[in-house]
Amino acid sequence: MKKILFLMTCILWLSPLSLFSQNAHNPNKCGMEIMKAALIAGNPVWAQRIEDQRNSLQGIADAYQSRKEAERLAGKTTSVPTIPIIFHVLVTYSQYIQLGGTAGIAQRVDSQIAVLNRDYNAQNADSVMIPTGWKHLYANVGIQFGLAHTNPYGTGTPGYEISIIPDAPGGFSSASNSYSNAKHSSTGGFDAWDVTKYINVWCINPVDVSGLLGLTVARSFTASGGYPTNEIGICINYATLGKRASASDYYIPGATTGDYYDQGRTLTHELGHLFEIWHTWGDDGGLCPWDGGKDDGIQDTPPESGAKFDNTPYTISGGTYYDTCRYDGTIDTQLTLLGVPCLDYMNYTDDIGMHMFTKGQALIMDAMVASGGESYSLTQNPGLLLYSSRTSVPQVDLDKSLNISPNPSNGLVNISFDSNEGVLNSISIVNILGQEVMNKDTRNSASDYYSIDLSGMSKGIYLVKCNFVSGSITRKILLQ
Ligand SMILES: [Zn+2]
Repeated sequence: MKKILFLMTCILWLSPLSLFSQNAHNPNKCGMEIMKAALIAGNPVWAQRIEDQRNSLQGIADAYQSRKEAERLAGKTTSVPTIPIIFHVLVTYSQYIQLGGTAGIAQRVDSQIAVLNRDYNAQNADSVMIPTGWKHLYANVGIQFGLAHTNPYGTGTPGYEISIIPDAPGGFSSASNSYSNAKHSSTGGFDAWDVTKYINVWCINPVDVSGLLGLTVARSFTASGGYPTNEIGICINYATLGKRASASDYYIPGATTGDYYDQGRTLTHELGHLFEIWHTWGDDGGLCPWDGGKDDGIQDTPPESGAKFDNTPYTISGGTYYDTCRYDGTIDTQLTLLGVPCLDYMNYTDDIGMHMFTKGQALIMDAMVASGGESYSLTQNPGLLLYSSRTSVPQVDLDKSLNISPNPSNGLVNISFDSNEGVLNSISIVNILGQEVMNKDTRNSASDYYSIDLSGMSKGIYLVKCNFVSGSITRKILLQ
């Protein structure tokens, strides 16, 4: 009860008004620019690398278009790949309650997958909002996503894992290091699952950048001297996860009063970065083509001065609206009746104002997951979308109910589970060398709660292996 009261105090304290002002035209809605700046600060060679990457994009799109056309002429059919996603949810107890507990998180990840599959397959119902001038650019990317149902240990998973983190600081820092702490169990996070097989999404509260919704480490950011490859993936603000199911669900207010980032489009946007596409205005400091601006390096997204916010009404019949990059003399860079790509998922518009990827953007993303592409391996493990044959579905419920806390721990570790879901034979503690350092036989106790004292052991990471009759479930803990 005390925690619930505390939560209610938090909700009152985070009044909509304070969040509106926090999110109105937030220049750091996405951490992409912060991360690029951090890479360049770490080694100036990154400035050219990033520029080269932008300059390569249209060539990638063109080459993939030609390849697709050649394959079509050869009668080759291509199937839509499906990629497994694992959500690592790292929240305080009050944030966990904000999300509706485990049931709320399960609903949110399910709705998130549904949003991604609609947005990436031209099935989003709000595509009817796309003005006529843009309709020919509306792309079916053709990538499917699913919850991972087999984990790297080969056992069943609901597609998410949850860790309750300490109330202070109540989240993770920092954007410039891509919230590295959230990505390693040694620093209180969840380790990435094999980044060549799963898309890893960490759902966190970013405490260092007010109003940040998400950021992504794409593979191109892990070249020598860049981010570690075991940090490839996406961090999203936990309160943008999924699509709103009821009015009382907690989501972050959008830039327009009354709007919320509650349509699951934060992850739609960040996945675009994972597949190497840029913000439509190109993070180029508001420059236009005639003063050196290059935007996103893709031809079919008209030049644009800077990020677009809100859900601004369209003012061009059949298009959106113009910005200051329209004219250089007589050249209409935004092409009459098209305007700016404010309706694109790679802009900063409120969730309800985004409706599409362009065909150029889709070609680049498709090239990344096609054979030879940097993310091709993600499409090659469809078995991970299924429950492992080693564990039946009931094991998944057991996995959900199993709670091992606190983590990190100072010594005492509490293990609880729903005894209706399984019978526990033993608990073993294994060190990082794989040696069993403790074993507790639980066959005769018929309890659903155990407390284990590890205070005599060296600090570090241990695996807590709960050996149920139906199979083992292993979790990592940090002893500190
Ligand atoms: Zn972004």
